Amino acid sequence: MARTGILIDNQWRQSESGRTIDVLAPATGQPFASIAAAVDADVDAAVKAARRAVESGVWGRMNAAERGRLLSRMAIVVADHAEELAQLEARDTGKPIKQARNDIVAAARYFEFYGGGADKVHGDTIPFLAGHFAATERLPHGVTAHIIPWNYPAQMFPRSVGPALAMGNAVVMKPAEDACQTPLRMAELMVENGFPEGAINMITGYGHEAGAALSGHPDIDFISFIGSNQTGVQIQTAAARNHIGCTLELGGKSAQIVFADADLDAALPVLVGAIVQHAGQTCSAGSRLLVERSAYDRIVERVAERFAQVRVGTPEMDHDLGPVVSRRQQERVQGFCGRADADAIPLIAAGQMPADLPQGGFFVQPRLYGPVPRANSLASQEVFGPVMAVMPFEDEADAVALANATPYGLVAGIWTRDGARALRVGRRMQVGQVFVNCYGAGGGIELPFGGMKKSGHGREKGFEALYEFSAVRTMVIKHD
Ligand code: NAD
Repeated sequence: MARTGILIDNQWRQSESGRTIDVLAPATGQPFASIAAAVDADVDAAVKAARRAVESGVWGRMNAAERGRLLSRMAIVVADHAEELAQLEARDTGKPIKQARNDIVAAARYFEFYGGGADKVHGDTIPFLAGHFAATERLPHGVTAHIIPWNYPAQMFPRSVGPALAMGNAVVMKPAEDACQTPLRMAELMVENGFPEGAINMITGYGHEAGAALSGHPDIDFISFIGSNQTGVQIQTAAARNHIGCTLELGGKSAQIVFADADLDAALPVLVGAIVQHAGQTCSAGSRLLVERSAYDRIVERVAERFAQVRVGTPEMDHDLGPVVSRRQQERVQGFCGRADADAIPLIAAGQMPADLPQGGFFVQPRLYGPVPRANSLASQEVFGPVMAVMPFEDEADAVALANATPYGLVAGIWTRDGARALRVGRRMQVGQVFVNCYGAGGGIELPFGGMKKSGHGREKGFEALYEFSAVRTMVIKHD
């Protein structure tokens, strides 16, 4: 069980509000833990602790190699606690235990990657005027605020705070109220394993209270946000009021484009897995399947066969997908399916719902719809559930136009044996990541990740994140 309080200056405490929030297990709908409902006063104390840590604390004086060592040690600590963390993640998010175990492996890898990166971000020397020496160095922003969603809390925690800490920032994180057990436990492990006072501070609570208080706090220097588009607007507005920077990782409606010459045996498990993974609650879920019309019937038949074998289950059943995270999310997904049915969009296939699923769990049936008319909301809006929209395209140009025809721009997948075509199409995708003959929903710690258009701006993951969490200072010295 994770700590239930707020972490400030390496001390756990309850909220000044005295209120708590029940945490429900998505598989049963029953509470299994509670978290503190933080308010302005708690956020203010956390930001003050972080400020002290960077300006006068042990953390602010620590050199890059030492910071890296602390982060790298966490990779081992997380691996040592892997099963405990995986069980916690599965119960909290509802995902199958094997997916939760993979998430913990990824979490350890984030700590490893950013631990290794801490002392490898260097400045430049710049040829300048005669008699002058000019150089740059990268500095931490200072106090960074981090707000993450509930779908992959175990991965998002180190993905967000890892690069920020590597660069020497002190962080205040608010994980999501729907699922935040593993971030709290990992923060506890960080304190036990040498992170000094104020380096890592955790605030739990509602978005409109704790989240808004954190993003609007006048003494933070940068905001890293992962979540919905609507909240993204509020975050960017809050950042603008304080004249600080932010990165926004928002939603997606990512296309998997299948040409007639694709290796279908290789593609099938990936195509279906990209929407089934964590019940479609993945920002980079491959939720649109675009199929070349000349092979439409042949390909869609094979996809349908595979999709119909998908099984829903509890984390312990360890099937292909679990429930969605909350009643609200369940109703949202069912709303999309109800509208698709009302619009008479053909249901091509549906996943299996075993009879012994617990009553009260937030389960939804996976659904494959198509052909989805291009103007239908299912063709362009993010469902964030296990619902896939299949659409035919005529030729390469049409595939490009259709893939780009949503407000989002996160990820695209291209399946073809024609290498030149893969490159041509890939370079015309208005997205942050393109996969050819593979699809990496959520994966790839080393790979810069982020959106174009309404999927947001800025990059997380990879080395790019180290640049996001730092600022360049140029120094010019006249010596002649
Ligand atoms: P959300 O925006 O409602 O919540 C995300 C986080 O923001 C939570 O911690 C929440 O408490 C907080 N929050 C809510 N209102 C706030 C406010 N007014 N001020 C400050 N913080 C606030 O998003 P959600 O519905 O919980 O998450 C799903 C969305 O997140 C989807 O659209 C999905 O695509 C997106 N997402 C994106 C990525 C990515 O990397 N691009 C990853 C995961 C999820």
